[in-house]
Amino acid sequence: MTGVDKPWTIIVGAGPSGLLLGLMLAKKGVPVQVLEGSSELDDSPRAAYYGPPAAYELRRAGVIEEVRKQGFDPIRTCWRKLDGTYLAGFDNSLLFDDQDRQACLPLAQLDRLLYKHAIAQPTLKVSFNHKVVDLGQDTEKAWADVDTPDGRKRLEAAYIVGCDGASSTVRKCLYGDKDFPGFTWDKQIVATNVAYPFEKYGYDDANFFIHPEHWHMVARLTKNPDGSGWWRVSYGEVSGLTREELIARQPMKYQAILPGHPRPGDYDLAAISPYRIHQRLADSLRSGRFLLAADAAHICNPFGGLGLTGGLVDIGGLYDCLIGVHEGKADESILDKYSEIRRQRFQTVTDPISSQNIRRLYDQDPDKALENDEFLKMLKSIENNVEAQREFMRSPNALRYDFTQHYKGNHKTMEGDQSAKNGIVSQVKEIAPTGGE
Ligand SMILES: Cc1cc2nc3c(=O)[nH]c(=O)nc-3n(C[C@H](O)[C@H](O)[C@H](O)COP(=O)(O)OP(=O)(O)OC[C@H]3O[C@@H](n4cnc5c(N)ncnc54)[C@H](O)[C@@H]3O)c2cc1C
Repeated sequence: MTGVDKPWTIIVGAGPSGLLLGLMLAKKGVPVQVLEGSSELDDSPRAAYYGPPAAYELRRAGVIEEVRKQGFDPIRTCWRKLDGTYLAGFDNSLLFDDQDRQACLPLAQLDRLLYKHAIAQPTLKVSFNHKVVDLGQDTEKAWADVDTPDGRKRLEAAYIVGCDGASSTVRKCLYGDKDFPGFTWDKQIVATNVAYPFEKYGYDDANFFIHPEHWHMVARLTKNPDGSGWWRVSYGEVSGLTREELIARQPMKYQAILPGHPRPGDYDLAAISPYRIHQRLADSLRSGRFLLAADAAHICNPFGGLGLTGGLVDIGGLYDCLIGVHEGKADESILDKYSEIRRQRFQTVTDPISSQNIRRLYDQDPDKALENDEFLKMLKSIENNVEAQREFMRSPNALRYDFTQHYKGNHKTMEGDQSAKNGIVSQVKEIAPTGGE
């Protein structure tokens, strides 16, 4: 066997963040073992749209072209009233010449693509049915106690990264059950995948609907040559209902919110999944030889698609930090920098902007939105300004940060991306939402 028997990094979780980190590290020859508790990759209806800084990381990993080939380039994003009246929007095709424009591919497909590339690397191994149950570390190494089909095993590495999602065992082992500060929204959402002829009703690729009760989002998931395909419909629901109650209400909600007021039989429902939604951030993304990234480190409501976009930006940053340490270009203090900066980016960008994104949908009078909502007013004001729209669509790059500037004796920063150079993004007012919810 290769060095995988003695991994330098253990990654807990074979979701998109864990697979991307594993792929990037293994491409540099680092021995990596990815531990996945389930017997297979997750298939639930979640992310599909990834903003420009995530596309940048997928490009660095060498997979963006395939992501775009399997997926498609969304054209327009807009906000509407429940009756379909168009309020404001922007044209993603104005950025089609940018190699790091947003990308759309349902998460299950992205996972499979990353997995295929990851296991092709000779220094990477993915172990399914390996559930991490406990952790420990000393000055020399970190270890994970893992339930496997052959019983409990102890696996060791120099670093262990928790990419194990919102209910992260790694985070709980480090900080206890209660240590995911933040809050849970008093709303929940139901995410569905459906085939229905939205094209016939003049829908754009991503449509956000403002309404106090029936707020929702309709975004294209796949695009066939004839324009048909699967769509994501995610709608708000009152809290306090059970999963069964929420699922039973779906036909009523569809009839109320979708154009043509369809009944079951008028559409093909492929998936339905209720979610509680939260804004939470771990106190630290580093504890000695343990690190946290993506949903294990922070979560937000999915409107505007900042969740995994921010998670993949974590991964790119953590990759630079770990490679720096592995190759002797950086000392371990760079891992503290990782924690500090990624937390700042969540606090100054992801958290406030994603909160505005969801409130915009239910917390205002749709008839007055164009008068009162600063974001929609801004969109209206740049409607005929191509350069301003392009700049706006690149705004999610405020999530980026170049950690290689902390390599020993290196003070270089990323080219042409002022916001990414700065350690602190103090005031981010607007970030272009992707079609993510
Ligand atoms: C409805 C919805 C729509 C969304 N849309 C978007 C979008 O369009 N754009 C966007 O950017 N974000 C979106 N998000 C957010 C996005 O889906 C998440 O941020 C992303 O899936 C998190 O990836 P992850 O790799 O951190 O965790 P996960 O995808 O949750 O993967 C974690 C993995 O760890 C494994 N695991 C857990 N515990 C253990 C253990 N103890 N041992 C071993 N393995 C373990 C799990 O089985 C899982 O495979 C959406 C979320 C929802 C709910």
